Amino acid sequence: MTRARPKVVVTRRLPAPIQERMAALFDAEFNETDVPLSAEVLIGQARQADVLVSSITDRIDAGLIAALPPSLKLIAQFGNGFDNIDVEAAHGAGITVTNTPSVLTEDTADMAMALILAIPRRLAEGARVLLKDGTWPGWAPTWMLGQRIGGKALGIVGLGRIGTAVARRARAFGLEIHYCGRTRKPPQVEEALNARYWASVEEMLAHVDIVSLHTPHTRETYNILSAERLKRMKKGAVVVNIARPELVDEAALAELIASGHLLGAALDVFEHKKGVNPQLLALARENKVVLTPHMGSATLEGRIEMGETVIVNIRTFLDGHTPPHRVLPEGRLGTNA
Ligand code: NAP
Repeated sequence: MTRARPKVVVTRRLPAPIQERMAALFDAEFNETDVPLSAEVLIGQARQADVLVSSITDRIDAGLIAALPPSLKLIAQFGNGFDNIDVEAAHGAGITVTNTPSVLTEDTADMAMALILAIPRRLAEGARVLLKDGTWPGWAPTWMLGQRIGGKALGIVGLGRIGTAVARRARAFGLEIHYCGRTRKPPQVEEALNARYWASVEEMLAHVDIVSLHTPHTRETYNILSAERLKRMKKGAVVVNIARPELVDEAALAELIASGHLLGAALDVFEHKKGVNPQLLALARENKVVLTPHMGSATLEGRIEMGETVIVNIRTFLDGHTPPHRVLPEGRLGTNA
């Protein structure tokens, strides 16, 4: 017996207009408590479902995929990154995976730019000054001096969608643009951004004042900022990470800031499974680190567009077509994620 409407299970609360639209289109089940689902609960909810709408807080590993019902043929991730999903296992189980790239590029790049400014211009520190009792010493020629942004060298690791959007913004702030990554971009891209390519991460790191990470988390990019590479950075350099925590050796980063080798770090993503690294937290209290709680894409407009992209992926898939944002296992041709 075929159901009149496909069953779609959504693991986290989505913006109201998206849930309303999904409820109109599908037999949709939402998570109004918005508490991340355990694997057990998720598997139970997915019973007889056709589509699972997941997000980065769901760990969709091979074990969970094996326990999904045969009816479930699409995992439509609400998010750009999909390192929470074992795409290879899903592919092997005949389940299509999609994500929501592009719609969050500009919002995330805006936030990256704010983080690039945060440490050199002491933004979080300055904002905290008045909070104690509403008073401050008043303007003074030598108080709260930071560092000029214009003329500094910014090194972008991964000149993809977000990396490029950051480079465009950074140019307007007078930063010199350097980049490294898997592939060198065509000359017209480099010219438009006035960007210098470095074939080696190490070499680029030794030349830049601020490094900003924009690769996905994969086997190859795990700890792309290793302890060794962090040590090669210029004294007084700054690390910005709005991509994934796994890209940085966090303990080494904290050590190098504490020792004074690095000026600081501004991180939208950081390990927090057992709470935030206490050394990073202590450095944040000393204003050497700025921590924002994974807010890169957090605008209402962006989250609605992400929801619309999820709906387009689901509808296209259910209509028998390849969804526009299909994710394939690493190394397989056709990945458009
Ligand atoms: P993208 O367009 O796919 O760009 C990724 C870039 O990383 C590409 O330039 C790619 O190189 C490069 N890259 C991939 N593997 C690499 C490797 N092994 N070594 C060096 N460079 C490598 O992705 P995007 O849309 O810009 O997003 C980037 C990441 O940002 C996402 O994967 C996600 O994890 C994160 N993100 C975070 C937030 C947040 O809220 N904090 C929001 C959105 C996204 P090629 O040019 O050769 O492909």
